[in-house]
Amino acid sequence: TCGICVEKCPFDAIEIINLPQELQDEPVHRYGENAFSLYGLPAPQEGQVTGILGPNGIGKTTAVRILAGELEPNLGRHEAAPGWDEVLEAYRGTELQDYIADVRDGDITIARKPQYVDQIPNSFDGNTRQLLERTDERGALDELVERLSIGPVMEQSIDDLSGGELQRVAIAATLARDTDFYFLDEVTPYLDIGQRVTAARLIRELAEEEDKSVLVVEHDLAILDLLADTLHVAYGEPGAYGVITSPKSVRNGINEYLSGYLDNENMRIRPNPIEFEEHAPRSVTRADTLVEYPDLTKSYGDGEFSLEVEGGTIRENEVLGVVGPNGIGKSTFAKLLTGNLGPDEGDADLDLNISYKPQYVTIDQHMRVDAFLSSITDQFGSSYWNTEIAQPLQLERIMEQNLSDLSGGERQRVAIAACLSDSADLYLLDEPSAHLDVEQRVQAAKAIRRFAEQQDATVMVIDHDIYMMDLLADRLMVFDGEPAVHGRAGQPQQMRDGMNEFLANLEVTFRRDERTSRPRINKPESQLDRQQKSEGEYYYAP
Ligand code: ADP
Ligand code: ADP
Repeated sequence: TCGICVEKCPFDAIEIINLPQELQDEPVHRYGENAFSLYGLPAPQEGQVTGILGPNGIGKTTAVRILAGELEPNLGRHEAAPGWDEVLEAYRGTELQDYIADVRDGDITIARKPQYVDQIPNSFDGNTRQLLERTDERGALDELVERLSIGPVMEQSIDDLSGGELQRVAIAATLARDTDFYFLDEVTPYLDIGQRVTAARLIRELAEEEDKSVLVVEHDLAILDLLADTLHVAYGEPGAYGVITSPKSVRNGINEYLSGYLDNENMRIRPNPIEFEEHAPRSVTRADTLVEYPDLTKSYGDGEFSLEVEGGTIRENEVLGVVGPNGIGKSTFAKLLTGNLGPDEGDADLDLNISYKPQYVTIDQHMRVDAFLSSITDQFGSSYWNTEIAQPLQLERIMEQNLSDLSGGERQRVAIAACLSDSADLYLLDEPSAHLDVEQRVQAAKAIRRFAEQQDATVMVIDHDIYMMDLLADRLMVFDGEPAVHGRAGQPQQMRDGMNEFLANLEVTFRRDERTSRPRINKPESQLDRQQKSEGEYYYAP
């Protein structure tokens, strides 16, 4: 191994490049003999949003517990903890000196949003209003409720909220508090792009206008770019050690992360760069048709929600991206395709065998991961399955665990593997990025693409992560309308046309980073933003 991974390299091949300088210094904290060690700490600044970018399991929570004053760092001397005074001495002259002094004096208060919002109902009985009113310390609650569109669920029991609703309630509850330090462990899971952008703006305003210190962990790179002022990259070996770099500019931090090489640290964290296409992919002219579906309509109840689908074609071997706001009918369309739901009008008897991964993954039987997956495919354990499915989805390490004990990200990876392992005409994945860290998203995107290419499979992916869509999709299907009231689904179209339609609905434009060609959200009303809007080029700027 190269020092990054515990087990077999999930990448093509890797050479030992160098040992990070940080590992020759003393850690901030070590849990015990041969236990996890953390090197480096993020440095929150008043009036700024500080981001952390890196995989799960390398000490971000440990770092936050130290910054919150809950965990006294032992500087690696777990037998004889040195105490806060010595810790402060160790940080004298660094950007953390004042902050650590406040922590030592017990002067830091913290509000935090947990990573897994799905667990909030386990610890709270009551409705949204009751939960939020307890947190209204800044008098900002009404505005937060309004801008996060929480109004319609204020009287609803927390038990009955969807993932996206819980996420927005949790963000509001955190930002409504009046503390020195705010920590948000992932902002975007289950939110659509419009909601992601709104959440990012609210967090920025809290830092800028109230002069607060905000620390965020975020795996959606487009949103992280918009959200943060400075960035710490985190890397290491999950369970063994984690290194948090000195702060970088957000642009450089993300670029270095994508390139796989950290300049100041002289450290390679990945053998190959992650690359984006500056131009729309060339249109495929000769492709066989997998299925042609007719115009369809579907409404629920007495027409509280209605969906209209324009008839279209899904091609063989393509990865078809599906985008649109939450509550617009994407899952309903998926269910029409699978036949789980009958349309009101249109003949959706497509005779297609579909393997479906739903948005909310509910596999939690008392069964081991390997038993579960081998019950789905007799390819289980074959060298094909190991290289193309298990390895990129990092399943080896969790094969012997029980489904019910898995974390959100682990469960997601098992569910993606299960979906791709079934034999089907069409593979339909609803929000595969949820709970995956940034590296796992890239690996999952690659695995899904390779699967489509090598197995002549057709894949539909519903997701809100623009970078993941860019890496994955050949064509795009765009949903619009009014969430929870009326949805309209257009035909699948070329990426350029699809992105333009989708982003025009949101009034968001992207430019390309000069160095890496990665998409970056333009500041609203900036010169580029106005120019691209007038040219109708929202994504692939000429
Ligand atoms: P992250 O937030 O990046 O996912 P954590 O800070 O939660 O990572 O954990 C980093 C590592 O430290 C994990 O391997 C975890 O098992 C280990 N760890 C966390 N808390 C303790 C503890 N109290 N004792 C020993 N090991 C711990
Ligand atoms: P998306 O996948 O785009 O988030 P959905 O297709 O899940 O959207 O839902 C579209 C709308 O239909 C939402 O307002 C949702 O509450 C409503 N809806 C979904 N399923 C049902 C159902 N079985 N009965 C009544 N309303 C439903």
